[in-house]
Amino acid sequence: MKYELVVGLETHVELATKTKIFCSCANDFGASPNTHCCPICIGHPGTLPKINREVVNLAIKAGLATNCTINFRSKMDRKNYVYPDLAKAYQISQYDLPICKNGYIELSSGKKIRINRIHMEEDAGKLAYKPSEIYIDYNRGGVPLIEIVTEPDISSSEEAKEYVEKLQNILRYAGVSDCKMQEGSMRCDVNISVKPFGSNSLGTRTEIKNMNSVTFMTKAIDYEYERQIDVLEDGGKVVQQTLRYNESKSSTESMREKEDAHDYRYFGDPDLVEIILSSEDVEKIKKSLPEMPESRFKRYTETLGISEADADLLTKYKNVADFFEAASKEIKSPKIVSNFIIGEIFRSIETESEKENFDISITPVQLEELVKLVELNKINMNLAKKTLAKMLKTGKGVGEFISESDMQGISKEEVERLCKDAVKNNESAVKDYVSGKEKALKAILGSVMRQTKGRGNAQEIEKKLVELIKNT
Ligand code: ADP
Ligand code: MG
Ligand code: ZN
Repeated sequence: MKYELVVGLETHVELATKTKIFCSCANDFGASPNTHCCPICIGHPGTLPKINREVVNLAIKAGLATNCTINFRSKMDRKNYVYPDLAKAYQISQYDLPICKNGYIELSSGKKIRINRIHMEEDAGKLAYKPSEIYIDYNRGGVPLIEIVTEPDISSSEEAKEYVEKLQNILRYAGVSDCKMQEGSMRCDVNISVKPFGSNSLGTRTEIKNMNSVTFMTKAIDYEYERQIDVLEDGGKVVQQTLRYNESKSSTESMREKEDAHDYRYFGDPDLVEIILSSEDVEKIKKSLPEMPESRFKRYTETLGISEADADLLTKYKNVADFFEAASKEIKSPKIVSNFIIGEIFRSIETESEKENFDISITPVQLEELVKLVELNKINMNLAKKTLAKMLKTGKGVGEFISESDMQGISKEEVERLCKDAVKNNESAVKDYVSGKEKALKAILGSVMRQTKGRGNAQEIEKKLVELIKNT
C-alpha cells in the first residue's frame, strides 16, 4: 500500500523582550545559572504575576505577520504537570482562548499551511545533566514564549523545512524573536502520522519533542515516516507516544506515552485578568510592522527588475535585505547593488549562519558609494568588482583604492582613437567578425579594454567598435 505523510508542527519561539513574561527579571540568554530569577518566576506561593504588555504586543505582531485573526478577548490558563524545571508545578499558558487563531503561511508552491492558533506562555527552567547529578537553572523560567500550532497540512519533510524557515524569517522581520534554533529560542515539536494514500481520516500520530535544528527535523520526519509504515505493514499499530530524536543514532526513541489535554487539568489562572484588546490596539501594532519578506520579494521582482532567484537570496535573511535596502537608497539601478551582494559579497561568506548574521566589514553606505561611481560611469564594472574585494578585505571605503585619475574615466576622443587603432591593427579579427564570428569582436574589445587600464566602459567601446567596422 502507498502511504501519505501527515505532519503538524508546534513551534515554540522565545520573544525578544527585555524582561520576562510575569516579572521584571531580565530575559537574557547565556547568563550564569540562577542569576535572573525572583520569587515570581520561581513561583513562590503568595507572589502575584502581572503580564508584560510587550509580550502581548509581540504575540499580536506574530499573529498579524502570519495572517491570523487576533482575539480581542483572551485569557491565561494553568497547565498542571510535575517536573523539576517547573517549581510551581503548573505552567501559565493559554488554553481555550489563545491570542491569535486561523492564520497561514504560504509556501513557494502556493500551498498554504494553516495555523490553528498562536498562544502565549512562560518557558520552564533548564535541566543540565551531569554523570550522577541533575542541575536546575531557572533563568529560563518565565521567559516569554509563543507557540505557533499548525493544522496537519504538511505532507513532506521538505515542506516542513520550508515552513519552519519561512516562519523563522517572518518572525525575525517582525522583530518578534531572533529565532535561533541552536540557542533554543526556536524549537519545534513535530507530530507525525501516516495514512493510506487518498484516505480522509488521519492515522495515529507520534510527537517528536524539541527539535532544534532544521536538518535533524527533516531527518527525524523521514525516519519516522518509514518506521510507521513498517509497523503498519507488519500488521502492527502505531502507538500514540512522545518521542525523542537520537541524533547520533539517526533514529527516534520513546520518551513517554502521550498525554492528552485532560491530563493537564487546565483552568483559568485566577491570578491574572483577561486580556481585552481594542481594534485600535491591534491597528496600532499593524502599522508598526515593517515590510514583510514576501512583500519585499514582490517589490524586488516586480519593480526593481531583480530575478526571482536573486530576490529569494536577498530576502531569505532579514539582515541581507536590510543591507540591500540601506545600500540602494540613492541608487537608480538597485540591481547592481543586488549583483554585488549576491555575486561578490556572498562569495566571501561560507556558511548559512554567516549569511544570516551578515556581519560584513563594509557598511551599506560604503557599498553605495562604490555603486554610484559605476552609475556615473566613473569606473567600469571590472574595476568596481576588484575594488569591492579589497574593501571587503580591509573594511575601507572606495576612496582608499580608487584615485582621482582612475575616476576621471576616459575621454570620448581617447576611446575613439584607441578603437580606430584596434580596428586597424586587428585586420584578421575584423574580417572574422564581418564574416559572422561574433567572438572575434570580443578579442578586439579585450585589447582596447586593456589599454584603458580598466577605465573604459565595455559597452561603450563595443558600440564604438561595431560602428567603426560597419563604416569601413
Ligand atoms: P496536543 O494538544 O495534544 O498536542 P493538538 O490537537 O493541539 O494536540 O495538535 C497538536 C499538533 O499535532 C498540531 O500541529 C496538529 O496539526 C498535529 N496533529 C494532530 N493530529 C495529527 C495527526 N493525526 N497526524 C499528524 N499531526 C497531527
Ligand atoms: Mg503537543
Ligand atoms: Zn523573576
